[in-house]
Amino acid sequence: MSIIAENVSKVYGTQYALKNVSFSIGEGEIVGLLGPNGAGKSTLMKIITCFIPPTSGNVTVYGNSIFDNTLEIRRNIGYLPEQNPLYTDMYIREFLRFIAGVHKLDNINKRVEEIIETTGLTPEANKKIGQLSKGYRQRVGLAQALIHDPKILILDEPTTGLDPNQLTEIRSLIREVGKTKIVILSTHIMQEVEAVCSRAIIINHGQIVADKPTEQLHTMRINRYHVEFDNDVQVSKLKQVQGVKQLNQLSPTKFVIDANENTDIRKTLFDWAVANNLAILTIQKDEQSLETIFQELTK
Ligand code: ADP
Ligand code: MG
Repeated sequence: MSIIAENVSKVYGTQYALKNVSFSIGEGEIVGLLGPNGAGKSTLMKIITCFIPPTSGNVTVYGNSIFDNTLEIRRNIGYLPEQNPLYTDMYIREFLRFIAGVHKLDNINKRVEEIIETTGLTPEANKKIGQLSKGYRQRVGLAQALIHDPKILILDEPTTGLDPNQLTEIRSLIREVGKTKIVILSTHIMQEVEAVCSRAIIINHGQIVADKPTEQLHTMRINRYHVEFDNDVQVSKLKQVQGVKQLNQLSPTKFVIDANENTDIRKTLFDWAVANNLAILTIQKDEQSLETIFQELTK
């Protein structure tokens, strides 16, 4: 595994920003760190990139610990912080040459031209950063993060504040980069994870509440039915029906029933109703979006 986080906690005062976070990430993964504001996403990214230490726990990147091989880790990571702080008064080339210098790269001019090309900055390459649209500023942020050709790219909310066209372009740029590098990006938008990521790590109040390949996220859908009977129902009996996980009684005859995963309880319910001299007037299955799952997990 390329990145291993073990029981990472970060405490500010008495408040846990992260609590016992563990995961490992391998080559070829594009990981979406998904969570609402204040979940701990930025804190986790700052720990992996060695900007702040955890209160306890450890992270290793290609076998190097954040506690003793900071320089080696930074060589392997490109980082785009939240808010993308840039020197607005600098020209794009000036800025990128400066960053390349910080990394002590050889052939700085050549490398800067390459990265301008890769990140699609060419049409705007002669401008000052302050003159650029938000979408192009994000490209400069990506160029800055990619200039030393790191194996891992860490992007903190890279699409926040972009208009729909810029959003599509930056996402496709990230997918392109993700073909050859590990990418970890944070977002509070479920669709972003679906659009870009191979895996979702959902984080809430500093803890991981789900960690799944993106294509398996739908298996977390709750099976929810709205059911109305023709007569009062004995709740304790209904609870015992095979497959019923949770019951919410709206009235003596109306219920919201959560069923176990992968079971369609409609037939069972009909049979049960008949056996108990009841008739089902309506039964309706909820179609839950992935967004709803995310909201359920993080409320
Ligand atoms: P996210 O990026 O998911 O919005 P953060 O990692 O920025 O969340 O913050 C997680 C929690 O830690 C929040 O409650 C935040 O207020 C708190 N926090 C983050 N940084 C600091 C800090 N330097 N001092 C005190 N509290 C902090
Ligand atoms: Mg953040």
